[in-house]
Amino acid sequence: MRKSIGIFLLLTFSFSLFSLEIKGVRYSCSPSKARVVLTLDSYPYYNVEREEKTLKVYLPGYEGEEKKITFPNSLVSSIKLVAQPVSFLVEVNTTCPFQYQIFRLGSPERLVIDIFPQNLSSINIRKVVIDPGHGGKDPGAIGWGGIKEKDIVLRVALYLRNFLVQEGLEVYLTRRRDVFVPLKKRVEFANKIGADLFISIHCNSSLSRRACGFETYYLSEALDDHARAVARVENSVVKLENPVEKWKLTILEDLSLLEFRKESILLAQLLQEKLDACLPTPNRGVKSALFYVLKGVHAPAVLVEIGFISNPWEARMLRKSYFQREIARCISEGIVKFTRKIALRENEIL
Ligand SMILES: [Zn+2]
Repeated sequence: MRKSIGIFLLLTFSFSLFSLEIKGVRYSCSPSKARVVLTLDSYPYYNVEREEKTLKVYLPGYEGEEKKITFPNSLVSSIKLVAQPVSFLVEVNTTCPFQYQIFRLGSPERLVIDIFPQNLSSINIRKVVIDPGHGGKDPGAIGWGGIKEKDIVLRVALYLRNFLVQEGLEVYLTRRRDVFVPLKKRVEFANKIGADLFISIHCNSSLSRRACGFETYYLSEALDDHARAVARVENSVVKLENPVEKWKLTILEDLSLLEFRKESILLAQLLQEKLDACLPTPNRGVKSALFYVLKGVHAPAVLVEIGFISNPWEARMLRKSYFQREIARCISEGIVKFTRKIALRENEIL
């Protein structure tokens, strides 16, 4: 007991000497998602306590302005910011049982608290982010006849946007032109607008001219050499990024991986199913690998390799407008089926 009082006094003394400041608080709230972002003056440490409808995040040593914000008709009913003797408390009260994830962002240091309903199937898919791979100084793979991956995937993405808009979805692209966008910026963009679904579009390439077909990836450890090689190629763009980000895929620590894993697998399966029904090229199946561009996306997220531009026949197909449009149509149908499954809670996986 004496020891714990000693530690308490020591902590109080230390924190009073080196108090840390919460520089700002931002929040957004809707019926299906809530986010609190704390801007801090140093790398944050925190403790979490949860009850059925309350999440308490304690920041030892921090000081900040006390506040209570209430939200009508939202997943979160109120957020309280409370100064305590040795901690600053962020208390989030929800209107229903919930799940949460907390993660840090740098430059400036931020702590992000995301809240979702316990029952994920109550999430409605409304905002879709399409990510055409590569762009600008990064051409991606170069195929037969000199075709560039970055051009093919942009055209497919633009067709896909049109199909999805017709379905009433809100669609955003990480790039609409031939520009270079770092991988991390693509993820940040999706999270900033609160994407409900993220799809990255790429073309495959192989040393074997005979390799062909389409495959869809979700984020997890690669299970075979081909999947590892595909991820290595798609991740290699970080070398062109300035400054070079030293990214680590701390897979077990990343809650977002687990959060949307089932949904991402389901989305990948539905895309493969639809592509299989209308493309003449082979279905290579659903796969997993560690792609930087999928890591940290707070929504179901997949990467589609629409075909091999290293295969002479497939490369010829991929440069044709009608084939690009057909791929986009199949992907759009897969996404629409996914949104309905999520809304109707039809699938057994969830
Ligand atoms: Zn690519």
